[in-house]
Amino acid sequence: MATALVNRALSALFLIAISVPAQAADYAGPLFDAHLHYNVEAWDGQSGPHPPADVLARMQRSGVRAIVSNSRPNDGTKLLAASPQARQAGVTVVPFIRLYRNRADYDSWFKDESIFDMVQAELARGTAAGPYRGIGEFHLYDSANANGSVAAKLMALAEEKELVVLAHVDDAAIELLMANTPSKGQKARLIWAHTGIGGASVERVEALLQRYPGLMGELSYRPGLTCAASDSHERLCPAWRALLLKHPTRFLIGSDTWINPRWQSYEGTMQGYRAWLGELPSEVARAIGWGNGARLLGLNPLEK
Ligand SMILES: [Zn+2]
Repeated sequence: MATALVNRALSALFLIAISVPAQAADYAGPLFDAHLHYNVEAWDGQSGPHPPADVLARMQRSGVRAIVSNSRPNDGTKLLAASPQARQAGVTVVPFIRLYRNRADYDSWFKDESIFDMVQAELARGTAAGPYRGIGEFHLYDSANANGSVAAKLMALAEEKELVVLAHVDDAAIELLMANTPSKGQKARLIWAHTGIGGASVERVEALLQRYPGLMGELSYRPGLTCAASDSHERLCPAWRALLLKHPTRFLIGSDTWINPRWQSYEGTMQGYRAWLGELPSEVARAIGWGNGARLLGLNPLEK
């Protein structure tokens, strides 16, 4: 009888131990920033508030070892790709072609033939860090524009050239973009910026991940990802924690440095990722922090 009571008490303690994670250590491994912009306001012809030496030092201090770089216009990415400081900082620049030469292009790129021509020219030219590996980030504020003539051509081109697409769109547009590829989305590789900034449900996100094997969710600004905890720290919300654990190979982190204040808070953003990654089993944290991006873009998944 006494033994049974003790056993019951021990198993209750065990349940408490596994259901209430102790303050976990932050993830300390390498980070892959899969959503980074180096727009003209940041560098302004190299003399802006955040020249290459500044942003690369922020990455180095944050343990960021590789970035998906894209910029409005593409000169910012080319500048980073050619920067000797990138090598010194131990940061691999993975260049993507942004579709915007200026702010006006946000609203019309999906039907603007001159954007398609610009992409072809950039692909032919490449960067000092090698050929472009992807297209984006692009936005679609109306999902129906995923069927715009140039949007459809770019999706087909991306699949044909094995380019990764970085798209800030809603869940309906994911389906439309995928339908515009020759494989109907079965071979397309698409990073879903913010995994739906409008807050597509966890169930909807999971259904899309299951339907499209090359769909990856990037987690900056994702509503509902973290919840305020009693000690005033942000923790993973239960539903998102469960989704990350169920699909550990499908998520990425990113800084989304779309405006200069995001550069000023870069280290804090990365520290925030390290905190919630530390709540996950170490192999899952490493996959989301580094390995998934490395695998997607051909870098060493075992980077130290
Ligand atoms: Zn962005």
